[in-house]
Amino acid sequence: MTKRDYYEILGVTRNASDAEIKKAYRQMALKYHPDKNPGNKDAEDHFKEAAEAYEVLSNPEKRSRYDQFGHEGVRNSGGGGYGGGMSMDDIFSQFGDIFGSAFGGGFSGFGGGGSRRRVNKGTNLRVKVKLSLEEIARGVEKKIKVSKLVACSTCHGTGAAGGSAFSTCTHCHGTGQVTRVTSTFLGQMQTTSTCPYCNGEGQTITNKCNTCSGSGTMKGEEVISLNIPAGVSEGIQLSVGGKGNMAPRGGIPGDLIVQIEEIPHPELVRDGTNILYEHYISFPEAALGTSIEVPTIDGKVRIKIDPGTQGGKVLRLKGKGVPSLNGYGRGDQLINVSVWTPRSLSRQEQEIMENLMKSDNFKPHPGAKDKSFFDRMKEYFQ
Ligand SMILES: [Zn+2]
Ligand SMILES: [Zn+2]
Repeated sequence: MTKRDYYEILGVTRNASDAEIKKAYRQMALKYHPDKNPGNKDAEDHFKEAAEAYEVLSNPEKRSRYDQFGHEGVRNSGGGGYGGGMSMDDIFSQFGDIFGSAFGGGFSGFGGGGSRRRVNKGTNLRVKVKLSLEEIARGVEKKIKVSKLVACSTCHGTGAAGGSAFSTCTHCHGTGQVTRVTSTFLGQMQTTSTCPYCNGEGQTITNKCNTCSGSGTMKGEEVISLNIPAGVSEGIQLSVGGKGNMAPRGGIPGDLIVQIEEIPHPELVRDGTNILYEHYISFPEAALGTSIEVPTIDGKVRIKIDPGTQGGKVLRLKGKGVPSLNGYGRGDQLINVSVWTPRSLSRQEQEIMENLMKSDNFKPHPGAKDKSFFDRMKEYFQ
């Protein structure tokens, strides 16, 4: 399914302010709210789409990645795992932020549908992953071991000792929410907020698990497999939904935030999607022509150097660069050919050179170069 542009979804311009984005989303959320459109799949899709757009555009970091790389730049954000959208719980947990304190923070509906228990979310984990240039060019699957909070093995994350150690919260009767009626700018609204007695969990523990003291979590390790797309670069963050720390007492885990670090290549230099390489040839090779072997990220490549090649000539290996993160095309490898000038000469070489110097052929003259310095530089920075 092709995703629509986030700005288009919210009906705002690309340079809309945070306030404009928030206002646009609020209107969308009210219009397409499931409680206002029961059983309407179309409205639900719009509702989810708007929530996803807002989730990205309201976050300065995600917004700037989206502006730069499009959907690909924020592909893994949005809670629901690798490539997934947002769950309804994620969307409703955004609402306290959007609708302000008039809704008591736990706003979750327009009355009637207010039996949604609060879902605890675990904290995010951050890791750094070092990648070679070859890995960046091809994309790579990395297995990493992370230390994190996992569900307690004794109580399986419930926090209670034994299955019958719970009692339903008497304040909210197990709904996790307390309801009240408020007058707002939208008229009479039934609003709900998180039950303060059970923290929205709907039940309280009467007999806590000894292993985790009722938290439902313990320290553990997990090997996580990361599918890193080709074209990432230093500093980019990918988020893997649900691979962070476990939440207390049976909530949903936080996210794993993966920060990319580049390992410098011994010979090749990355410049965006291009790869730069400098190769020296000898003075006779430049005059007579030769063939050289050049490292690329796909292995060695042999290239012909024409007779009469000038120092500073830039050769281009099309498509031997790094793929762009948004999936459109791949850069080139640019080879700067430099001519090596000997630093010392034997007596015999000295004589040969002195003879060559007398020849008109060896005198530099205007127009001798294939392209002017400026043309080459323009090409180089294209
Ligand atoms: Zn436990
Ligand atoms: Zn309660």
